[in-house]
Amino acid sequence: MLAYRHAFHAGNHGDVLKHTVLIAVLQHMLQKDVPFTFIDTHAGAGGYALDGHYAQKTAEHQAGVLILTANTVPPPELLFNYKTLIEAFNGGGAITQYPGSPALASMLLRADDPMRLWELHPTDERILRSFLGKRMHTDVHLTDGFVGFVRELPPASRRGVILIDPSYEMKSDYAKTLTALREGLKRFATGTFIVWYPQLQTVESVQLPKRLMTAAGVAPKGWLHASLTVERSEGGFGLRGSGVLVVNPPFTLAAQLRESLPWLAARLASDGQGKFMVQEGRPVKPA
Ligand code: SAM
Repeated sequence: MLAYRHAFHAGNHGDVLKHTVLIAVLQHMLQKDVPFTFIDTHAGAGGYALDGHYAQKTAEHQAGVLILTANTVPPPELLFNYKTLIEAFNGGGAITQYPGSPALASMLLRADDPMRLWELHPTDERILRSFLGKRMHTDVHLTDGFVGFVRELPPASRRGVILIDPSYEMKSDYAKTLTALREGLKRFATGTFIVWYPQLQTVESVQLPKRLMTAAGVAPKGWLHASLTVERSEGGFGLRGSGVLVVNPPFTLAAQLRESLPWLAARLASDGQGKFMVQEGRPVKPA
């Protein structure tokens, strides 16, 4: 049974990192006048009310997106782009709504860039379908995104961005994430994959980034690993931070993140002393 609802966590520090990276990757893809497919294996509901019951219960967005939107001095470029889209989603008014990954993608993609979305929670899938189901070239699936997306690869245009963003609600999600990346790369080695993972005090969580980087070793344009840690407590059970692995990243992304992550680490951490990391894996050399 699926208990996880992203509405409790929308706009938290993990979303800020993930969505900043997602926007940067999509904007890079848009520079070329050739369509690309956006695949979201775990799409969520698409939009979340920050003034609703779920978000108000945890108030995680207050230490996430609202820190950015309340800031009047322009932040570094990637964060400025993120902030601008959040403000646009709210029609320029008070920030009461948060766009999930499919909503952000739909704001950026061209009409002929296809979207393939998976969401297994029936309520969130219904909300997502009502929001984006009528968009041209868009499929919404109420089936397992860990496996369903592989059949879409490679996309017809041979250009694509695949976001793998599970809830990690079950321990098995960690192994499934790794398998999804491996299987995806087997069918579409040149695709840009973005994998988000939580920093938790569990063996599975600690081991996952290294395993993902090893799996990404086959990618012709290498990989980028970035993380943002906002809580210091070593012994706790909560989400201390999160990371993203970008396989076949835009070549500009590492420098842009090195500029943006210190800004976030200083402002999103509860003690003002968050940590960040940006690592790059070299592309494989042709034999
Ligand atoms: N990608 C979304 C965003 O950035 O706005 C957030 C996704 S949330 C972290 C993970 C979602 O995956 C939840 O809505 C959950 O119901 C859904 N889910 C869990 N297991 C799934 C599966 N096997 N296939 C597809 N969706 C699944």
